[in-house]
Amino acid sequence: MADHNLGFDTLKVRAGYDSREHNYAVAVPIYQTASYDLGSVGRAEKLFGMEEAGYLYTRIANPTVAVLEQRLTALDKGTGAVAVASGMAAVTYALLNLAEGGGRIVTTPRLYGGSFDALKHLYPKFGVHVDFVEDSDDPEAFRRAVRPDTKAILIESISNPNSTILDIEAIAAVAHENGLPLVIDNTFGTPYLFDSFAHGADIIVYSATKAIGGHGTTLGGVIVENGKFDWAGGRFPHFAEPQYLLREQETGRERSILEVFPEAPFTARVRLSYLAYFGAALSPFDAFLLLQGTETLSERISKQVANALRIVDYLQKNDRVSWVSHPAADGNPYQALAARYFPKGAGSIFTFGFGGNEEQLRTFLNAVKLFSYHANVGDARSLIINSPKTTHGELNAEDQAAAGITPDTIRLSIGLEDADDLIRDLEQAFAAAFVESLV
Ligand SMILES: *Cc1c(COP(=O)(O)O)cnc(C)c1O
Repeated sequence: MADHNLGFDTLKVRAGYDSREHNYAVAVPIYQTASYDLGSVGRAEKLFGMEEAGYLYTRIANPTVAVLEQRLTALDKGTGAVAVASGMAAVTYALLNLAEGGGRIVTTPRLYGGSFDALKHLYPKFGVHVDFVEDSDDPEAFRRAVRPDTKAILIESISNPNSTILDIEAIAAVAHENGLPLVIDNTFGTPYLFDSFAHGADIIVYSATKAIGGHGTTLGGVIVENGKFDWAGGRFPHFAEPQYLLREQETGRERSILEVFPEAPFTARVRLSYLAYFGAALSPFDAFLLLQGTETLSERISKQVANALRIVDYLQKNDRVSWVSHPAADGNPYQALAARYFPKGAGSIFTFGFGGNEEQLRTFLNAVKLFSYHANVGDARSLIINSPKTTHGELNAEDQAAAGITPDTIRLSIGLEDADDLIRDLEQAFAAAFVESLV
């Protein structure tokens, strides 16, 4: 069912699954098994020799997880995907698969706090260094940051938390002119709102924990590729190196990942090296839950975007709000890029500036009743959080400033409730915060 002629909404409920291969079960079965019978010694030889495709061990592949992988591949019109246990595992495996053995990643400070902190402080310990561009809005700044040992450019399609949008195609052009892949973290964009490959991505990473799962129940991550990038160039010798693991059974000739998996070498390599040996495998049950979420992705995201527009409008008219950072807000500098890259809307996660003092901000957060105060996004429920002290709390003041996170920042992730109820909830919380201050 990987028919690319089918529409997005058909693929999101059907791609990657043929009931005839699963005892005609209508829903995707949960293959809750660690391992698989090899059947016979002859079959085991074929499986381990990669002459026959089949399941060996759930750390490497599992039929339930495979449906999720194929479904995301279809939604993004890619050639392959690998699902992992969290969005951070997806980011890490994708970047290490590029910069293995040392190298540099060019990126922007406008990233998820965990990605920023890992790149800045943890990756260097593995020989992978980061160059943060100074002006993320200028694609030429990305070009200037590229060095001979740069291995990739990483950006978020819609940035966490301020929903800024970079000139993605111009940055893709910079990457490709330098023989580099563009990695897009499309967690906020989702495959529904943003067609990453059409706009120049070579590798997509997702935290499936967020909008793909959509219910705040399950951690997961996915890496998707479109098989177009030329890995044979000099920067990525590990894709062309012959491996004993991939030897031809009859002759013993060692083969490279490019030779054995020409359509999807990147995700094949993540699977055979990182998933197999670093082990952040997604559980079959969690893959099932993420599939449930995927089936209603468009319906949820369109309602969340519509709700977000109502909230943006309400906040813009509120004199206790100093600014609203969403491309739909009046005068937002990213409107033109949003119209170009996000015709269905630029998401439902955004920030605003709280127009009171710190004490009032605390009162405000404590006063919301419908909005849940916690660190997640893309949930069916609406969420609120003070990013500078939580999701981006790993960043020091200087890094927060570079990432555009001011101390008055509040992030909202708009859910599926009635917009009127959400607005009433914010209104009563503002009232509580601003009345108390007068006493
Ligand atoms: C949450 C998030 C991640 C990390 O995902 P987890 O599933 O929480 O590990 C990575 N990138 C972005 C943009 C995120 O919002």
